[in-house]
Amino acid sequence: MKAAVFVAASAAPGHFVDVMEVARPELAAGRLLVKVIACGVCRTDLHIVEGDLKALRPRLIPGHQIVGEVVEGATAEMPVGTRVGVSWMGGTDGTCWYCRHGMENLCDDPTFTGYSVDGGYAE
Ligand SMILES: [Zn+2]
Repeated sequence: MKAAVFVAASAAPGHFVDVMEVARPELAAGRLLVKVIACGVCRTDLHIVEGDLKALRPRLIPGHQIVGEVVEGATAEMPVGTRVGVSWMGGTDGTCWYCRHGMENLCDDPTFTGYSVDGGYAE
C-alpha cells in the first residue's frame, strides 16, 4: 500500500515524510483492517515530524484523525464497509486502575495512533 512515512534518520527542515510503498498491515486478532478515506493533519503530527516530540520508532506513518471503512476482521457489529473513526488512543493495557474504572483515556500504558503505532497517512 502507499503511505506517507516519517523516517526519523532522514528528517530535515522542510522534508518530513516520504511517500512510498509499504507492506499492508497484518490483521491481528481482535482488530479491524480499515481502508483510509481521509486523515486530518493535527498539530501533534507536526510536533512529531518536526522533532518536538521524541521519535519513538525509526519509521512511522503519522496521522491520528482517521476516517475509513472496515475491509477485514469484520464482525456482526462491524460488518465490511462500516464507516469508522480511529482515535489518537491506539490501545490501552486494559489492566491498570484507569482502564478498570472506565477511564481508558488516562491509561498508564497506552499506545498512540500515528506516534507509537502507525497512523492514517496511508491507504
Ligand atoms: Zn490501562
